[in-house]
Amino acid sequence: MTLFPDLVDYVLSESIIGRARKSGAIDVRLHNIRDYSEDKHRRVDDTPYGGGKGMLMMAPPIYNCYKAILDGQASEGVENTSRRVIYMSPAGKVLNQKKAQELAMYDNVIILCGHYEGVDRRIIDEIVDEEISIGDFVLTGGEIPATILVDCVSRLVDGVLSDPECYEKESISSGMLEYPQYTRPYEFHGVKVPDVLISGHHANIDKWRDDSARRLTEEQRPDLLETEKN
Ligand code: SAM
Repeated sequence: MTLFPDLVDYVLSESIIGRARKSGAIDVRLHNIRDYSEDKHRRVDDTPYGGGKGMLMMAPPIYNCYKAILDGQASEGVENTSRRVIYMSPAGKVLNQKKAQELAMYDNVIILCGHYEGVDRRIIDEIVDEEISIGDFVLTGGEIPATILVDCVSRLVDGVLSDPECYEKESISSGMLEYPQYTRPYEFHGVKVPDVLISGHHANIDKWRDDSARRLTEEQRPDLLETEKN
């Protein structure tokens, strides 16, 4: 649910996520909140009670949009699937890989994108299960955060990536950073690929990768190793 569906659609139509949408591995639908305005000028925002700068998104258009989504799901016979309603918000818990894995278990995730000064609190209290932030900074709207959420959750859905190993061994997912990777050319600006990687000795390659991953994690993200201990 957004005021700027084209912005979200554009980002989610390219590359891996775009292909996953085309193949039917995931289904992303954009709903324009403005289409559900009760105002003849299609207004969706107003000034905040109590004063203050900026505009706030009103509850009724968002609620109408939400209700239309639920009605649509009911008419498709998918109303009983597991569902989670998320509001992208700087006030939410910061997104991490564990949360993405949790959300990937739901059949259906509905995401509300705020804009301007955000949304009327009553809509959060009534329809939202969880507020999620993409980091401790403030953006102009929830559209970019929503595309980030859709991207990282979708790649955990069956059929989106060619092989689950693609994400299981990656940085963060594995609990550590990924080992350094190399591809052709063998020599670049005088630096050669480490000998072990062209040795063909798989046990040695695995050991080199494990050791390198740990070393890199110690250098760049020691906090991940602390989490591993706890
Ligand atoms: N007044 C709100 C507050 O202080 O919490 C901030 C509103 S922000 C300018 C406008 C919209 O951008 C929010 O409603 C939210 O949907 C989105 N947004 C901004 N920063 C975000 C972040 N770090 N993570 C997720 N969504 C964010």
